[in-house]
Amino acid sequence: MSEPIAFLGNLDPDEEAEFLAALAAALPEETFRPFRTLTPDERAAVRIAVVANPDPAEVAQLPNLAWIHSLWAGVERLVRDLGTGSAPIVRLIDPELARTMAEAVLAWTYYLQRDMPAYRRQQEAETWRQLPYRPPGEVGVGLLGFGALGSAAAERLVEAGFRVAAWSRAPKAVPTGVTAFSGPDGLTGLLAASDIVVCLLPLTEETRGLLDAGRLAAMKPGAGLINFGRGAIVETEALIAALDAGRVSHAVLDVFPVEPLPPDSALWRHPGVTVLPHISGPTTPGSAAAVVAGNVRAYRATGRIPAAVDVARGY
Ligand code: NAP
Repeated sequence: MSEPIAFLGNLDPDEEAEFLAALAAALPEETFRPFRTLTPDERAAVRIAVVANPDPAEVAQLPNLAWIHSLWAGVERLVRDLGTGSAPIVRLIDPELARTMAEAVLAWTYYLQRDMPAYRRQQEAETWRQLPYRPPGEVGVGLLGFGALGSAAAERLVEAGFRVAAWSRAPKAVPTGVTAFSGPDGLTGLLAASDIVVCLLPLTEETRGLLDAGRLAAMKPGAGLINFGRGAIVETEALIAALDAGRVSHAVLDVFPVEPLPPDSALWRHPGVTVLPHISGPTTPGSAAAVVAGNVRAYRATGRIPAAVDVARGY
């Protein structure tokens, strides 16, 4: 019998129980134990921790930790809290999450392509007016971030007939139907070519505030924005100014610098904004547990730690 796997996080009790049950079902040969139930000897023996927003002071009480498995795909908070001295952090790369996110990208891209915000406003004003139809082949969708989620989204968008472009840090091979951009110059090119910009970037030192007044002004006049990455990538004041000036026609925001979105935020009431409560790509316990199971089993069999986050790079 191996040492227990520690479970650390700030989930509510029902959520924690659901994740623990899913992990136990996916890995019946292992024992998952909430950190608070571990004795000092057990804490000293722990090699693997599965975490969801853990308290860094608790992580520090696991002196022989070999690696940490995050239950979230985004790890900027973990990287910030645990710092460069942390045990390797393995983030969640879950095909089911990628599928859910790609579905959300397609759904909200259609929302903008089919002018639903404008028809909502027309209904409120009891206006009967048919706006010109733009077929997907005439609509450029630019993805900021072409990783696990961006590439899954690109596949759905290409299938649906949109003109797809994708931006990454390093140049990448891309599938047929996707135009690749990379680096700072590539960003200007992608923004100028996109009718809808979809952010699926991680939050890092380089991406914080990336979509500022200058970059929003570099978007096509009247383009739409979807932010499913992290809130702090878009500068809120600059976005509101761009919406007020009509430079950006509508923003679908699922992520915010502070969550839940504070009641006094102007975004709640702005007619050019759709607010979603961080729901575009939820972690589902069953599929996340299957991913954790695959990684833990590979580690037990080979002793090799799964591919980890580059803490210096931030993702
Ligand atoms: P990933 O596989 O690590 O991909 C990240 C992509 O961003 C890569 O293509 C990377 O470029 C690119 N990138 C990073 N920094 C860049 C920079 N400075 N300039 C240009 N491109 C840059 O991550 P993922 O799994 O797709 O997830 C992306 C993010 O989505 C997560 O970090 C998380 O914040 C967010 N997320 C949100 C939800 C939600 O419900 N709203 C759910 C899950 C995840 P390279 O390819 O060159 O490395």
